[in-house]
Amino acid sequence: MSETQTTETHEFQAEVRQLLDLMIHSLYSNREIFLRELISNAADAADRLRFEALQDEQLFEDDPEPRVRIAVDAEARTLTVSDNGIGMNRTDVIDNLGTIAHSGTRRFLDSLTGDEKHDAQLIGQFGVGFYSAFIVADQVRVLTRRAGDAASEGVQWESDGKGAFRLESSPRESRGTTIVLHLAEGQDEFLDTTRLRSIIRRYSDHIAIPIQLEDDQGGAETINQASALWMRPKGELSDEDYQAFYRQLTFDTEAPLRWIHNKVEGDQSYASLLYIPAQRPFDLFEPESGHGLRLYVRRVFIMEDKEHRLLPRYLRFVRGVVDSEDLPLNVSREILQQNRQVDRIRAASVKRVLDTLERMAADDVDSYARFWEAFGTVLKEGPVEDPANAERVAGLLRFHSTADENAPSVTLADYVERMKPGQKAIYYLTGESLAAVRSSPHLEVFRKRDIEVLLLAEPVDEWLMAHLPAYGETPLKAVPKGDLELDEIGDDDSPTPAAPEPSEAVGQLIERLQGQLGDRVSEVRASARLTDSPACLVVGEHEFGINMQRMLQAAGHDLPAQRPVLEINPDHSIIERLASDESAPLEEWAVLLFEQSVLMEGGRLEDPAAFVRRMNRLLN
Ligand code: ADP
Ligand code: MG
Repeated sequence: MSETQTTETHEFQAEVRQLLDLMIHSLYSNREIFLRELISNAADAADRLRFEALQDEQLFEDDPEPRVRIAVDAEARTLTVSDNGIGMNRTDVIDNLGTIAHSGTRRFLDSLTGDEKHDAQLIGQFGVGFYSAFIVADQVRVLTRRAGDAASEGVQWESDGKGAFRLESSPRESRGTTIVLHLAEGQDEFLDTTRLRSIIRRYSDHIAIPIQLEDDQGGAETINQASALWMRPKGELSDEDYQAFYRQLTFDTEAPLRWIHNKVEGDQSYASLLYIPAQRPFDLFEPESGHGLRLYVRRVFIMEDKEHRLLPRYLRFVRGVVDSEDLPLNVSREILQQNRQVDRIRAASVKRVLDTLERMAADDVDSYARFWEAFGTVLKEGPVEDPANAERVAGLLRFHSTADENAPSVTLADYVERMKPGQKAIYYLTGESLAAVRSSPHLEVFRKRDIEVLLLAEPVDEWLMAHLPAYGETPLKAVPKGDLELDEIGDDDSPTPAAPEPSEAVGQLIERLQGQLGDRVSEVRASARLTDSPACLVVGEHEFGINMQRMLQAAGHDLPAQRPVLEINPDHSIIERLASDESAPLEEWAVLLFEQSVLMEGGRLEDPAAFVRRMNRLLN
């Protein structure tokens, strides 16, 4: 077969071109990371070989020791990175080095902002990998053969990164992948072995396989520690060791806030190294984002814990490694789902993370505030997902409140300590935004009587509060629900009266309003909640709040019709006037009071235009 018959030219997928462009521009100042990416791919390839060889020893051929080898040729201006990992066949090459195979990468592209600094950081976190070679190279050649395939199946891929790549057969005796970068003008620093050595130490010291740098005589020197850091005794490891390993693991540009390193020995043995990051990865809220711990069995990488078996979803911000001595190497996802050892590792890991967060909250308020800003929203899923630990998670929550409007810094314990004599519940209000919550009429009576209310405005808050009926002995109570029972709160010398018995005129107004509103409301009554607003809506103790109803409806749920109570403020001038002036158009006023109350709850009107017309008629 002649060469030409097997040579094909393929266009890059449009997204690849977009990515290449972007990478070359936004990562130029940080271009040495290309080496980290190529080494990390080589290490992944070694892991995958080791894993597949569990089923089929033949794959090792006669070369079982994984390694990465780096060589420079100053004359040819090339830098070569080769591995003896799993390698690729022709289809693999087309899929992996011609398209953006990972749906994650596409989402990543969508999340770019155009702000270079921000985008560069995203790329860093994401580790987009192979294509970063084109930041420093004007020509890249990949020679590869998949383990187990015949030598004649070897493939060569070649591109200048401009728009297309060339593919041809290239027989290859040894399995694995060799990547030859022809360095672009001005990139001579990557021919300098001293420079290369320092880059490798900086980024890849804890890659678990040896990284060897070839010298002029054809010998090679191992540059990295090449050991599993998590197996080393704590006493031998410095902060810098832990941080360097974290960088390798996550590509995070910020140092982690905390790490937790444990070696457990006994009837079950494992090591775990868990990190609490300082900043949010961009895809924390994507269901498929695949953040999770890395599971190893006796130093062999098995899988990324994307199904959150080793730690629950609400702790998915934790990064790190679990390495078991006891699980079978061929452990599958199915086995993991129902393995008692895994249950125990999980319970212990949850405990360690919660312990660490509690300690950080107590000893280092600033770090905890950073943690909360980055991951508080995720932690709020805790009481829903993990009722057994709901009380501990509740202690870690931070809230905005009427007593501290600036930062979400109020704990439930702070609140309980500040409760008024006779106060029996922790009061809270949820809504669509903090601004809306802060100006809600439901807070009027609380402000007047100086009773603190927790303010919540994230979507997850509704679910959180629905699963948090009490903190210790103290029930939590939504202020727009049921009877507030504020009567007993306060000092003995200044008792505050219950809702005033409405005057006869107000009593009649209530009946007339009820007649006008029909089955839009379950009841109209005089309010003990309001000081400045004429009216508000209240739901029953065990009904969904209006904000929750809105969210459920937005999520496509069919809700049973629920009728709120309209409470009116007998002391408000509008109510006073309506009570005394029988000629006022009550059919208009009733609906207006009702609809403005719906709006203040963040609810939606079925016919906003009718609302505006009605208001304008009354203004006239
Ligand atoms: P990622 O490593 O995040 O998957 P990359 O762009 O770094 O993304 O690599 C894309 C894919 O190319 C890898 O998933 C892998 O399948 C393949 N690949 C890259 N380098 C190698 C290599 N040295 N050996 C085997 N496969 C590789
Ligand atoms: Mg990669």
